[in-house]
Amino acid sequence: MNLKDYIATIPDYPKEGILFRDITPLMADGPAFAYATQQIVDYAREVGAELVVGPEARGFIIGCPVAYAMEIGFAPVRKPKKLPREVIEVEYEKEYGTDILTMHRDAISPGQKVIIIDDLLATGGTIEATIKLVEKLGGEVVGCAFLIELEELEGAKMLKGYPYKSLMVY
Ligand code: 5GP
Repeated sequence: MNLKDYIATIPDYPKEGILFRDITPLMADGPAFAYATQQIVDYAREVGAELVVGPEARGFIIGCPVAYAMEIGFAPVRKPKKLPREVIEVEYEKEYGTDILTMHRDAISPGQKVIIIDDLLATGGTIEATIKLVEKLGGEVVGCAFLIELEELEGAKMLKGYPYKSLMVY
C-alpha cells in the first residue's frame, strides 16, 4: 500500500510558504489507517515499548490505536493548563518564540520503556521537548515513530541517535 496516496498537500497553510501535509484522508480510510497503525505497532513491539507517549493533538490520533493494539498504556503530552493534576514542563523553541509542553508527574514509572508517537517530524522541536519530559520522569525512550518526516527540516538531527521510524518521507 502506498500511504502517500492518502496524504493531502495544502500549499500556504497555515501561512504563506508552508506546504501542509494533511493526514485526515489517511485517517478516513479504514484499511489505510489500519495498515499505517500496524506498521507502527510492529516497530513498537520490535523496540520493546511498554508505554506510548504522544503529543497533542495528532500524536493522540496515531498513538492511541497503537497502545490499544499492544494492550499497553498511553500518556498524553499537552500544552499548559490542560492536565488537571501535578505536572512537569519543558520549554522549547518554536519558529517564533518559545512554547511549553507538560506531562503529569506520575505518568511514567521509573525505567519504563517508552515509545513516543506523533504524526509528523518537522524541525524536531516537539520531539526533543517530549524526550526531555519522558527522561525527566525516569522513562527510557526506546524509539520514536512518525507517519511523516519532512526531511529538509532536519528534525532527525534533534533525535541525536535515538532510534526512530517514519512511514513516509518528503
Ligand atoms: P516540529 O516540532 O517537529 O517542528 O513540528 C512537528 C509538530 O507540528 C507535530 O506535532 C505536527 O503535528 C505539527 N506539524 C507541523 N507541520 C505539520 C504538517 O505539515 N502536517 C501535520 N499534519 N502536522 C504538522
